[in-house]
Amino acid sequence: MSVNVHQCRACGHCVYPARLWCPVCGHDKNQPASVDYAELVAWTVMPQKEGDMAPVVIATVRGVPDGPVMVVRLEEMPARVGQRLRLFEREMQGRKLPWAWTVAE
Ligand SMILES: [Zn+2]
Repeated sequence: MSVNVHQCRACGHCVYPARLWCPVCGHDKNQPASVDYAELVAWTVMPQKEGDMAPVVIATVRGVPDGPVMVVRLEEMPARVGQRLRLFEREMQGRKLPWAWTVAE
């Protein structure tokens, strides 16, 4: 289980989603990398729509140890900033999107 990100071949900086140029060094070549874990930076609960089975929780997370910062959906309500998360991808409407579970500590 992991999320596929792009890592700069020049400086190693990781980004998600992919960009044409590395935001740190401007290099234009990257390689695929995967990130398994992240820590929670912030989260919000979206207003519930009719037909939603459960609250939709959107979070900003930072991959550990080297990033990137990304926006993911959470499977459940988190407890605190800094909480450890397990990343995974779930296909929705033909696209692989980043999700995370909370990890028991
Ligand atoms: Zn770079």
